[in-house]
Amino acid sequence: MKKNRRTLDLLPPGLRKLLRGSERGRGAEAFDRWHLEWLFDFVERGEVLPDDVDMAASFTTPTYAGPKPRTAELRKFAAEVASELRRFLLDHQPWTFPLREVRAVLEAPVTAVALPPAPPRAVRIRPATMFESSDWRTAFRLRAAELVAQYGERCRQCQRKECGRLFFADDPRQRFCEPRCTNLKRLHAFRAESKSEKSASN
Ligand SMILES: [Zn+2]
Repeated sequence: MKKNRRTLDLLPPGLRKLLRGSERGRGAEAFDRWHLEWLFDFVERGEVLPDDVDMAASFTTPTYAGPKPRTAELRKFAAEVASELRRFLLDHQPWTFPLREVRAVLEAPVTAVALPPAPPRAVRIRPATMFESSDWRTAFRLRAAELVAQYGERCRQCQRKECGRLFFADDPRQRFCEPRCTNLKRLHAFRAESKSEKSASN
């Protein structure tokens, strides 16, 4: 175990990241869910919180590496993305957006030595294309589109009519955006039921 870690430490940082990334699997999915939950909360909340600036930076990494957007910019942008997502998810319209200042980067293939416990042998690591943009809005939409395309069936609208927010359903059976909406819906159903019982007994 100790030996394994030392071998990994000897590799150049880029390659180390690549190897760790390929072993990640489930961790990557948890990361995506975390981003999705934040995305819908951010665009539907109607206000920008201090943490949103850092979350937006995490959301656009590694596509964008420039200065962080300002709170006022984020507020306006959140409303734009909310209506774009609604059009896409609820009205079933295609989501199109311009790619600004984007370039594709294909890293040169890397040959590494397989890590123990595998016997030492040269392993060719496949290069991956990625996009870089100096426009944070483009980077943001690219990440949002990637996530919504992958987890579309979990991107939903809250079934409480008075709410109707878009949200990410971590549990596939989830129909309401948050416990508050679930409880309100139950309360209304209970009231409606007791009302009809009352009128039936009269
Ligand atoms: Zn709701």
